[in-house]
Amino acid sequence: MTEALLRDLVIANRILARDNVVDDFGHVSARDPADPRFFWLSRSRSPELVERDDLIRFDLDGVPQDPGHRKPYLETILHARIYAARPDVGAIVHHHARAVLPFTMLPIPLRPVFHLGALIGPEVPLWDSRHEFGDTALIVDSAPMADSLARALGPRPCALLARHGAVCAEADLRRVVFTAIYMAENAALQMAALAHGTPDYLSPGEIERTRAMQFGERPLSRAWAYRSARAGFGGI
Ligand code: MN
Repeated sequence: MTEALLRDLVIANRILARDNVVDDFGHVSARDPADPRFFWLSRSRSPELVERDDLIRFDLDGVPQDPGHRKPYLETILHARIYAARPDVGAIVHHHARAVLPFTMLPIPLRPVFHLGALIGPEVPLWDSRHEFGDTALIVDSAPMADSLARALGPRPCALLARHGAVCAEADLRRVVFTAIYMAENAALQMAALAHGTPDYLSPGEIERTRAMQFGERPLSRAWAYRSARAGFGGI
């Protein structure tokens, strides 16, 4: 059970890299299916390069269980504290997708403008580390910062980090990869539309129904197979 999850976690890393959600930076984690008090995340390595033996098990304080010589990401605690705050969350992506970044530096809310964009939910909060922590290096590298971010995220699937990036938190890896990809796609479309006026945003009812539909087994397995093949893992 755990090995299958770890294989999917490697694939999730490669998909997010292939689709430009992450690059040299950014990461994806998954909760341990055998024990919810732990999660798995790569050592400090770019997602495009992540392999099975890079994956480290952490507890919900971000303490690595068997790191050996492997150095964790500086932002491992971001994942740990969201898992601690959200028992419903089974997988997390932290990214700096460039299309999303304008919404972290402008007073323009990121909102669904097309059907697949519904995955981000009706409201994407903007967490600004400056409000509680003043001048920092902007990365989420302490438990107080990570707890503050988790509070801003609340029960939602996505949050923006001011002048930095975003987090996506979903029930499992397939869902979180899907949400992160379409968060970036929606941001690009929304910004393109805003250049020409006020977009016709999805209604709250459309967002709820579309998100439920897209997270059905058929769309999820179809998208996972497609994205996996493009990332070099065919035949899934
Ligand atoms: Mn970051």
